[in-house]
Amino acid sequence: TMSQPATSDAGWDIVVADLIEGNSRLRKEVEALEGQLAGFEDVERGGVALQSLVDEINRGHGTVNFIAVDAEGNVASGVSTSGLALKYPGRVGDSPIIGAGNYADNRYGAATCTGYGEMAIQAATAHSVVLYMKMGLLLEEAGAEAMHDLRHLDLPLRGMMNLIAVDKEARHWGASTSPGRTYLYMTAEMDEPVVAKRVHIPLAAPKGCSR
Ligand code: ASP
Repeated sequence: TMSQPATSDAGWDIVVADLIEGNSRLRKEVEALEGQLAGFEDVERGGVALQSLVDEINRGHGTVNFIAVDAEGNVASGVSTSGLALKYPGRVGDSPIIGAGNYADNRYGAATCTGYGEMAIQAATAHSVVLYMKMGLLLEEAGAEAMHDLRHLDLPLRGMMNLIAVDKEARHWGASTSPGRTYLYMTAEMDEPVVAKRVHIPLAAPKGCSR
């Protein structure tokens, strides 16, 4: 579902600009703003606006990706409706767009994204992973290639991107532009899911790297 952003004429663009860094970062920004609010003449109106901003941020809960492969090798992918806070009214993120945040093809595998949806939309990230596998790259090569494509986008903001993907052999792989990120996997033989590490692929290319 789409949530409404807090309306404010108090000039809080900095909070919106930071939405790509995730909701916890936003909360810190709002806490800092509370201090600044004391200096506003119209404190009461500012307080009401701030409260609605805090409520909106607290409604943000992140987005969840799922990929499943059945015993016959059928692949399915799903993405929960974007849980990002402070979305513009009417914004459509990558989550519901097949090919952007979510793509599955029984012939090759599947990929799903969380993060700054505008990037996944512009680069058709989930589809790119599957297409690169079709073109002969291994799962981890295809995923890395799709992440590298994000380095060349011309967007006003640069955000985080996280990917999980499987190939048609049900091998799984995850990546993130942030270090230390994980995902879960589980097979029919396992009683509990296992935490796997995502490969860290920063948005900035290392020096001397042309991709
Ligand atoms: N990808 C989502 C979006 O931009 C946000 C998220 O992953 O939490 O709409």
